[in-house]
Amino acid sequence: MDVRRFSRAVVTGGAGFLGSHLCEALLDAGVEVVCLDSFLTGGPGNVEHLTDRPGFTLRRCDITEYVHVPGPVDLVLHFASPASPVDYLKLPLETLKVGATGTWHALGLAKDKGARFLLASTSETYGDPQVHPQPETYWGHVNPVGPRGVYDESKRYAEALTTAYRTTHGVDTAIVRIFNTYGPRMRAADGRAIPTFIRQALAGEPVTVAGDGQQTRSICYVDDLVVGILALAASGHPGPVNIGNPEELTVRGIAEDVIRAAGSRSGIRFVPRPQDDPQVRRPDTTLAQTLLGWKPEVDWAEGLRRTVEWFRATGA
Ligand code: NAD
Repeated sequence: MDVRRFSRAVVTGGAGFLGSHLCEALLDAGVEVVCLDSFLTGGPGNVEHLTDRPGFTLRRCDITEYVHVPGPVDLVLHFASPASPVDYLKLPLETLKVGATGTWHALGLAKDKGARFLLASTSETYGDPQVHPQPETYWGHVNPVGPRGVYDESKRYAEALTTAYRTTHGVDTAIVRIFNTYGPRMRAADGRAIPTFIRQALAGEPVTVAGDGQQTRSICYVDDLVVGILALAASGHPGPVNIGNPEELTVRGIAEDVIRAAGSRSGIRFVPRPQDDPQVRRPDTTLAQTLLGWKPEVDWAEGLRRTVEWFRATGA
């Protein structure tokens, strides 16, 4: 099964970083796309290159208010949500609302249309994990009243709601747990490590590493992630399925690689770690491999090269 089995998809949050890549991949596969976005943390610039393509519609819409899409829809990809720590710490109530009310509306749309529904969940549902690497069967270690709780719990609620729609209303649902992803169209100021490091390195400023930089992250190039998500959408499996790159890097190592890739003379400056910052993070991707035949293809050196090139070319 591949994604060409679908005719018309709705992508909420389609003008964001991941959403814009998904819209493009769907159009490339011949699937019509209705992109719904409030432009809260994304913007029309991310899909500007798609606006003239046949089958693409962009609509400004806050999905916590309403969702109405005329005509048939056979796939709903629910990606609307602030996603970077800077965004969700600045927008705590919007984050909880889109995970709750926004997910109700997106699920309602899928139910009305008889469409398959895919929820963009996150590795943050595992919190600061006590099991490593994290398989889908791990329930997580989340602090609901810590600063990150607004995002983590919003996604955990969205997972529960998605599951309830499946069991109660028979909606054909899927949940993907996305691990840190990077690539072109990230915002330089969104507070995530890679765009921050790239911006600092290109500007010749010190690269700010939190703590001693020995905490780890596993980072997936966006093209690989899109392939995995569309494979899950096409599969009919409910998930949750982890999609992420299992190669584990220290944050300090990431910073050093970025400085090298940018050809920069920046040094590293150590800054305090944010509260509840996870110590380790690595997906167990056995399920994605066995179920979807998916594994990442773009290695870190190549993905970083492409991303630095994009930041340099766009001056983002
Ligand atoms: P992003 O901020 O670039 O995109 C999110 C989009 O959702 C933005 O365009 C924003 O304007 C839109 N949005 C927010 N609230 C909305 C609302 N109420 N109605 C309509 N649109 C709304 O972030 P991203 O990195 O592309 O993340 C997309 C999704 O993937 C999020 O759900 C996020 O939780 C999930 N995710 C991303 C990562 C990652 O590494 N990028 C990791 C795990 C999960």
